[in-house]
Amino acid sequence: MANAPHGGILKDLVARDAPLHDSLKAEASTLSDITLTERQLCDLELILNGGFSPLESFMNQADYENVVDTLRLADGAIFAMPITLDLSKEDIETKNIKPGARIALRDPRDDVALAIITVQDIYQPDKVKEAINVFGADDPAHPAVAYLRSKVKDYYVGGKIQAIQPPTHFDYVALRYTPAELRSHFAKVAWRKVVAFQTRNPMHRAHRELTVLAARQRQANVLIHPVVGLTKPGDVDHYTRVRVYEAIMAKYPNGMGHLALLPLAMRMAGPREAVWHAIIRKNYGATHFIVGRDHAGPGKNSQGKDFYGPYDAQDLVTKYRDELQIEMVPFQQMTYVPSRDEYQPRDEVPKGIETLDISGTELRRRLKTGAPIPDWFSYDAVVKTLRESYPPRTKQGFVLFLTGLHNSGKDAIAKALQVTLNQQGGRSVSLLLGDGVLPELDESFSRKDAEKSKDLQRLAYVAAELARAGAAVIAAPIAPKAASRDTIKETVLQSGGPGGKFFTIPVNTPLEYCEATDRQGFYNSARQGKLSGVVGVDVVYEAPERAELVVDITQQSIPEIVTRIVLLLETNALV
Ligand code: ADP
Repeated sequence: MANAPHGGILKDLVARDAPLHDSLKAEASTLSDITLTERQLCDLELILNGGFSPLESFMNQADYENVVDTLRLADGAIFAMPITLDLSKEDIETKNIKPGARIALRDPRDDVALAIITVQDIYQPDKVKEAINVFGADDPAHPAVAYLRSKVKDYYVGGKIQAIQPPTHFDYVALRYTPAELRSHFAKVAWRKVVAFQTRNPMHRAHRELTVLAARQRQANVLIHPVVGLTKPGDVDHYTRVRVYEAIMAKYPNGMGHLALLPLAMRMAGPREAVWHAIIRKNYGATHFIVGRDHAGPGKNSQGKDFYGPYDAQDLVTKYRDELQIEMVPFQQMTYVPSRDEYQPRDEVPKGIETLDISGTELRRRLKTGAPIPDWFSYDAVVKTLRESYPPRTKQGFVLFLTGLHNSGKDAIAKALQVTLNQQGGRSVSLLLGDGVLPELDESFSRKDAEKSKDLQRLAYVAAELARAGAAVIAAPIAPKAASRDTIKETVLQSGGPGGKFFTIPVNTPLEYCEATDRQGFYNSARQGKLSGVVGVDVVYEAPERAELVVDITQQSIPEIVTRIVLLLETNALV
């Protein structure tokens, strides 16, 4: 393979001098340390394994400024992305970080020391300039600019890195390769020409056709090289995507393609990102690299316009063509031509011929509603995998949150609902009655106590986890305070994944009725001063201002209320 880079400092170090590796490990335990961010962890992995070659460390000021200004390291080698170890002033002061200091860099997931950096310099970046030069605008609609503004600390630390060990992964281990491993795999299977395909999205038939066409054009094999580090916020999670990639590999002619995962933290920097991706793929042993339409595009800016032109990435890669040591395979948008049952680059489709496309938004809509996804667009195995991760609403979890006074009828409604939803089937149903679940969550809880906000928070956590796993959750605490109800709702909505549906249903039965029919005597005891903390007597019930549905057992029968709640679920396409 032409211009194979070194195997990364980790490989050199471990192979060359194993005792040194042990002594570094011992030394790390005596040093001041930094727990890496998730992005720094991805960057460090590729520094260590040679994926960022010729870069062997987090950038010092000279490299950083050169890269930001000219896409070159200080020694003139082309490199498109600043790779920096950002730290706060507090870190620098409390950890005594200064030139010459040796600092252990730890994996945030398991606290293992992965490397030691010998600090060369500490410098303050011009973040506005970084945003404009690298990402094209200082506009927080760009995910990397938002990250730069809100997450990146104020100081960057450069210095030589010594490797201790690579980060440990537990997922898809067999599909993870270092550059050296992938190059030796290509040597083993005698692949001389390899077209690499970068992706952060599920692959469908267009992508399979695109990569096969590239292979045919260049008489090469195909490396499917998806990013499994950080991608654009909101992207399909990498577990789902890897299952999709595994399914699509079966659609390639036998032996033509190979799947390997790349632990890269993308920046969505379009043109610069494409140059960076090309360098990385060269390091992994590819001879060719596909750049299609809107490569690594971040979407729209705050004026609603695209940050980059659809082929800007191809133009920038072309500009550095002679130095990159990997050949770009440019593509126009691949589009489906029904009359030929084939995908073709848009610029090759004769005028007047019908073409079909399904946008990302439309695909998400079809997944959400369960609408069909046609064969010309994807493969059954791919669609099945996506549907498992993005179940239609009828399979998604939700929380029905009944709040109201003691003896307002909310428990009776909740139990009747549980029976009705069990009868309907399709989901597991969880009933979280205040009296039933709160003592389970808090051993000091007594039925004589008022609900504590901490207990309600625990209940919210359980409800959120159950809904996220697809359950129909019926929660019925008293929850008299607006603030704690808001926190419960937020906990469920922020739990992510399918299951973020939350319905507040106040059971507004008047206090007089609740009191008159209270066979347990709570109100009576409270009135006689024997019990305190009884909502409606000495604790105010703050009536909800916003609710999806308000019910009252003095106005409607329980079967009527259940019907109204089922209709609410139906209106939201959940049943
Ligand atoms: P990203 O470019 O952010 O990794 P994708 O995973 O969507 O996003 O795309 C991977 C590569 O495939 C990019 O080079 C992109 O331009 C190209 N690509 C994706 N879909 C098409 C298509 N329909 N036609 C041509 N190129 C495409």
